[in-house]
Parts: sequence; C-alpha cells; structure tokens
Amino acid sequence: MNLCDVKTVRNIMEAFNISFRKEFGQNFLIDRSVVQNIAWECCEDEDSTILEIGPGIGTLTYELASCRREVVALEIDRGLIPVLSYTLGEFDNVKVINEDVMETNLEALLAPYFEKGSVSVCANLPYYITTPILMKLLECGLPFDYITIMIQAEVADRLCAKAGSKDYGAITAVLAYYGEAEKLFKVPAGKFLPAPKVDSTVIRIRLHKQKPYVPRNEAVLFRTIKAAFGQRRKTLSNALSAGFGELSKEQITQAIASCGHDPNIRGERLDIAEFVTLSDALCDLLPKTE
Ligand code: SAM
Repeated sequence: MNLCDVKTVRNIMEAFNISFRKEFGQNFLIDRSVVQNIAWECCEDEDSTILEIGPGIGTLTYELASCRREVVALEIDRGLIPVLSYTLGEFDNVKVINEDVMETNLEALLAPYFEKGSVSVCANLPYYITTPILMKLLECGLPFDYITIMIQAEVADRLCAKAGSKDYGAITAVLAYYGEAEKLFKVPAGKFLPAPKVDSTVIRIRLHKQKPYVPRNEAVLFRTIKAAFGQRRKTLSNALSAGFGELSKEQITQAIASCGHDPNIRGERLDIAEFVTLSDALCDLLPKTE
C-alpha cells in the first residue's frame, strides 16, 4: 500500500468515511522520499523505540515500523484509529493509542520501552500546538536520544537560531539548555495533502545526556531568560529590572557586570552558557525562597 499516493489516501478516507480535520492540524505527507528520510534520519539506533505523535493515516508510522524496533503512536482523532489498524495491519511492532499527547503520562507509557533500550521521538507535528508539545517533551525529563520533528519553517528558524541573530528568542535559549538542535531539510507545502499555507522544516534535537551548563536554580534560569526577552528592544538591565521587581536596578547592573557584560547589552546577545552564569549571579541576590 502506498500511503503517499493521493488517490490511495482519498480512497482510504472515503472508505472509512472521514475527512481532514483542520482543528487537529491534519496535513498528511504525500512524498515517499520525504517520509523515508525522516524515518531514517530521526535517530542513529535501529534498535530504538520511536514515540510518534499524530500518526494520521499511518504514512510516517509505516516507514518507522519498517526500520525501527518498535513504534508507539499517539493519535488524538478517534476516527483515525480504525484506519490505522487497516494501514498498519502487517506490523506487529506498532502500538497505536487514541490519546491527546498533552494529556498523556509519558513517563508511565514509555517506562517499559526505556527498560528495553533507547527511545526517540519522531513526528510531523500539528502546527497549532507545536510549542506546547515540544515543551512537554523537553520538560518531562525523559532521556530521549533524539526529538525529530517537522514544524513550520519559521518556527524551525527560531528554534535553531544563533545567539544575537534576528530569529533568536527565549525558546531558542530554553531549547539550547536541553539539547542541540539542527535543521535537517525543508519540505515545501506541496508535499502535503491538503497543502498548508507555509513550508515546513524537519529539525532534529539531540538531547544532552548530561547538561553542559547546570544552573544553581532552574526556575531562576527560566525566569532570567523570560525577563531578558520580555522587553526585546530594551537593554538587558532594563529588561531584567522589569522581570525581577524585588531587585534594585543597581543590583541588577552589578550582577550583569559581574558576568563580564556591559549592562547596556541586549538580552538576545546571550547564549545559554551566559544565561546560566547570569542566573547564578541573580540567585545570590534573590530572597532565599526560590
Ligand atoms: N503523521 C502524519 C503524516 O505525516 O502524514 C500526520 C501528521 S498531521 C500534520 C498531525 C497529526 O497529529 C494528525 O493526525 C492529528 O490528528 C494529530 N494530532 C493533532 N493534535 C494531537 C494531539 N494533541 N495529540 C495527538 N495527536 C494529535
């Protein structure tokens, strides 16, 4: 069965009496070489389990099941579950679960798979919820090897931006704390059915097994990053003053200077290592409740 063939997709959808659901971000891939590339590039270890989010009618799942040990796929749309039983019927290494990934207890679901070996994430993510899903995957603390996701091209530019560039933002710095992101390839809108309005990019995040920069207090680190980007056109000292109301301007200026920066620098020039150092300096000044 060629799930990238438009006629086949339409026949399956007609046979199961379903249509594309915009509210779930349903744009299905229809280019086999793109699908194969994602499945091959998503991690190094063939013996891995892959968590797929949003299998749709099983296009990417099919390739993942063919080249990886096991696939666990979470699909929110109940109407697609019988379709997936049909399209993936030949595989005994795929488990499909009808669940919203945002509601899923990933630790409990994946514990038996981590016991068997490495686990990575691979998904063509729905655009409407890309950032919350990515943050959930990062914050859950599970030791995934890789998170490979297809996302809107401009979001990929932001996630993979270098410090100081126009695309660099709070989310870039936060992501750099958890791992190293790289763009793999672009996928034009015409490779999907229905075609979305924008192009996509596949990115791969290699999660740090051991974080290279460890803050004294994670909450203060995230607060520092959020404050620094909260007032983008302001100097770092002004932006941090707005975000840390309990500290005086002088204390903030001194903390910035103690890290070797000019207080007039803008927050977007700092990379994750520098944010960690700065957040440690701020930690010393904060009341000891955080
Ligand atoms: N993997 C398929 C492909 O590449 O052709 C479909 C990708 S489509 C962009 C996104 C899929 O995610 C849809 O099947 C949609 O129903 C599913 N989805 C959307 N929100 C979800 C959520 N919160 N949890 C799980 N699946 C979700």
